[in-house]
Amino acid sequence: MSDSLLVRPPWDGQPYSVKRHGVTIDNCDSEPVQTPGCIQGHGVLLVLRRTDLAILQVSENSERWFGAEPAALLGQAIVNLLGSEREAKLRECLSTDATDDNPLYVFTLDSGSGIPLDVTLHTSNGLVVLEFEPAPHDTQASEPDYYRILRKAVGRLQGARTLAEYCQTVTEEVRSFTALDRVMVYRFHEDGHGEVIAESARADLPPWLGMHYPAEDIPKPARDIFAKLWIRPVPDVSAELCELVPLLNPDTRAPLNMTYCALRGPSVMYTEYLQNMGVKGALTLSIRREGQLWGLIACHHYASTATFPYQVRAACEFFAQVISLQLKSAEDRDSLVYRLKLADIHQQLVSRAAEAGDLGAFTGGSPALIDAIEATGGAICYRKHWWTVGDTPSTAELDALGDWLHSRPELQTHGVYATDSLLRDYPAGEAFGDRACGLLAIPLSLSHKSFLLWFRPETIRTVNWGGNPHDKPTVTGPHGPRLTPRKSFELFTESVRLRSLPWRPVEIEAARQLRPLLLDLVLNQSERLANLNADLQRSNEDLDAFAYVASHDLKEPLRGIHKYAHQLREETALASDDQQSKLDGLIRLTLRMDSLLDSLLYFSRVGREALNLDRVDLSTVLNEALEMVEARSVEAAAEVVIPRPLPVTVCDRVRVREVFVNLLSNALKYSDKPQRRIEIGYLAPNEPGDRGNQPKESLGQTVYFVRDDGIGIQPRHRERIFSMFTRLHGRERYGGGTGAGLTIAKKLIERHGGRIWLESTPGKGSTFFFSLLAAVP
Ligand code: ADP
Repeated sequence: MSDSLLVRPPWDGQPYSVKRHGVTIDNCDSEPVQTPGCIQGHGVLLVLRRTDLAILQVSENSERWFGAEPAALLGQAIVNLLGSEREAKLRECLSTDATDDNPLYVFTLDSGSGIPLDVTLHTSNGLVVLEFEPAPHDTQASEPDYYRILRKAVGRLQGARTLAEYCQTVTEEVRSFTALDRVMVYRFHEDGHGEVIAESARADLPPWLGMHYPAEDIPKPARDIFAKLWIRPVPDVSAELCELVPLLNPDTRAPLNMTYCALRGPSVMYTEYLQNMGVKGALTLSIRREGQLWGLIACHHYASTATFPYQVRAACEFFAQVISLQLKSAEDRDSLVYRLKLADIHQQLVSRAAEAGDLGAFTGGSPALIDAIEATGGAICYRKHWWTVGDTPSTAELDALGDWLHSRPELQTHGVYATDSLLRDYPAGEAFGDRACGLLAIPLSLSHKSFLLWFRPETIRTVNWGGNPHDKPTVTGPHGPRLTPRKSFELFTESVRLRSLPWRPVEIEAARQLRPLLLDLVLNQSERLANLNADLQRSNEDLDAFAYVASHDLKEPLRGIHKYAHQLREETALASDDQQSKLDGLIRLTLRMDSLLDSLLYFSRVGREALNLDRVDLSTVLNEALEMVEARSVEAAAEVVIPRPLPVTVCDRVRVREVFVNLLSNALKYSDKPQRRIEIGYLAPNEPGDRGNQPKESLGQTVYFVRDDGIGIQPRHRERIFSMFTRLHGRERYGGGTGAGLTIAKKLIERHGGRIWLESTPGKGSTFFFSLLAAVP
């Protein structure tokens, strides 16, 4: 106990008495709860000098129990009040037992009041404290066998597999041997607020399980005292408070330290709080983990006031000590169960991803990344690609977060970054604070900015408050403004701003352990990918070789055929017209075959050569393309309409120009009209306008189009025209062609991550649409 409380300056110029001074809203956090100067009126208290056992202080209600006013008792030797036999017992107890701060039962006294009184003794700061409380009515014979009861209770505790089960057992056992209406395990969170995590209550009472209570409900002095004390009985919350006479001990000149007194007068704030809940009697036990206050066992009785005889208190105290001793192993067991569950889910994820050959297995399907770690959002980034599940920031926000994380020192030193308030370190996180307030991040590869991330929102702390924690209704009591407990204990939802539930050490550890599993997977995959790439490279090379053979080995004999056909035609000038036209046909066929081979060669190159991406003004590109088809355009007497300049975008200008050249020359070619009209334009992402049967992959992208008023295309041919060497017309009709143009255009557009499609009415015209660059490859 802190000595400063003992020598606290008197309140109002007098020693403190909870009965006289109570507590005000301004000082409840420094209320001298250890020296209240008063006891609960259902018992009586005497303070003796240790040497001669003379009475130095007595509670003001002595007349009721001993038939003598305090003034008549003060200064008397105890032998005069209790007789020599009992005085001898007290002396024996003092000389043989450990009585310091440790109340012991010494005997039951038949007081003058006719009610037998249990007497307990302890010593405090060199003084002897005697507490007298009405003994239970039951006879010795019918007294419960507390040893047996406790053995059973402790045995049940050992069988609990999880912390929740452990705490539930605690509430059931305490309730069974105290016979109280409600027993709860109340756990303190890091920020001081409390939560009911287990409860055993009379069936007709509303459950309080899961309720959270603000830290102010149990002020600091009360928490400090519970760190020392195992048990706090208040059998009658409305009992009168009886002051000690005198308030200051004449020998020590200090108020009596009543920390260990069962009769210690409770804070008026506490008893009013209990009365507002309808509680008539209360008992509180403390739960400590490795010496620190971890929680409380709060017991309430509503039907009537309660009695807590010495034996019940001793059993409860013993049980609280056992609970505290075993708590660490219960928590460790609980962590183990959770750890095993996490490890199991991680294994499932890794093997599914290995089977699928894709990290997407972590975010798609069940279980997913967030099931493993009880998060609401999860993301994996590997080589700039994000896979996400649940509520996460957008890809752009994730990219920025990834850049920031990359430089976090924690990732370098500890291999993990965990926070329940990202905003504290990363102000830009405000934009997605609703989804990602807490972040747990594990680097997969810092050099590649690859991460594993879990998110928790602040709203996950939306809890059931037993009253609004920020609402402090005050009333003016006899001693000034007083903090009164809230009258309403209905559900109240309060979201703690800018904080998420904290990451438990077991979760951080599990996340850490997932990293090597994932790296293994990624390595295996890269190996597989490398093999696939090698295969692909080989087959590309085969194709290249084929194209080479086609262009050289085939072109060479073709050139020979062409040459000989020419020669033959020259030399057989006198041959018949029929023979002449056959030779002409042969020559035409060799020329055609030559251009088919060129197309094939070009097509195989288009797929392999890297794009040269840059910011490009498409209007310039279009003008270049128009220049290239100018001769045909003049010939077709075409009206070219460009309603507005095309935008600037990122693309390979030469390839896109090729696309325009192909679409423009088709638009000029495939028409029977003497005058043609061609319109070239675009639609920005949200702009209204006709986009034809737009493929979903290109939704949300700028759409470019080339529209003509030509012959149109039958619906059944709309897919076919994109196949290699497909022409819908005779070889020479509409200016001829190899049927490779659209195939190559499609490939060029797809290399840009875009799509090409068309809308057409036979006889009226066609519109070819295309998009570009969904993602830079
Ligand atoms: P090519 O023009 O060399 O024949 P393409 O691949 O460019 O080859 O076109 C394939 C076929 O699609 C063409 O032969 C033609 O039948 C049809 N086609 C292409 N563009 C149009 C268009 N604007 N209007 C009508 N038909 C078209």
